[in-house]
Amino acid sequence: NRKTIVAANWKMNGDLSLVNAMTAALNAINIRTEQQVVICPPAPYLGALTQANQNPGVAIGGQNLSEHQSGAYTGEVSALMLKDLSVQYVIVGHSERRSMYAESSELVASKTKAALDQGLTPIVCIGESEQEREQGDTEKVLSEQLNPVLATLNSNELSGVVFAYEPVWAIGTGKTASAEMAQQTHRFIREHIAATDTQAADNVAILYGGSVNAGNYQELFAQPDIDGGLIGGASLKVEEFKKICLAE
Ligand code: 13P
Repeated sequence: NRKTIVAANWKMNGDLSLVNAMTAALNAINIRTEQQVVICPPAPYLGALTQANQNPGVAIGGQNLSEHQSGAYTGEVSALMLKDLSVQYVIVGHSERRSMYAESSELVASKTKAALDQGLTPIVCIGESEQEREQGDTEKVLSEQLNPVLATLNSNELSGVVFAYEPVWAIGTGKTASAEMAQQTHRFIREHIAATDTQAADNVAILYGGSVNAGNYQELFAQPDIDGGLIGGASLKVEEFKKICLAE
């Protein structure tokens, strides 16, 4: 009975014309009540997107936020600013931020807490590299990424988190984890959360990310522990993304 979340991560792509084309397409469709769509554009487009979106089944999300509330942090965006723009979700700890901007799992935990403190729903990303999977370290890596978040949040907060499992080797590569491999890993993630908090483990949505497209999402989302997807490349294509939102 968890909702299916279809989340678009535009990364550093898109422009005002994509904002307009995407909202025009999504404003015209009916999203089933069991489904929640989230669009995460680059920060400069958050305001335009929240204004253009008329679909109650579509929420808007940021791609990153500061762990600080306000102050001398040039270039950063706070949870309160996202809230001010009627943003409801925010991606935290995407693998690109972990690898290119040196975000540690401790920092990811602080950002997750900062988001929750303002009533935003964090989408916390975790995932192993190809080398880590080959060495048999997947579960160890995922545990290490999860533990600071589990240690920082109380039970109520934890229940409000969305997790996204994104194996780094599947991101932007066209290589998707098989539905079976993804399900196994999602099961592990839910069990690891359950070791801290069984109730929260049952409530949290765990999304799969990594080369999800209109051709493979159904098999992935049908797995018992996969509660939707975090979609990069395919979320920039209006017709393809619309299909996924409609679960067609
Ligand atoms: P792709 O769907 O382009 O593989 O990107 C996945 C991703 O990183 C979403 O956050």
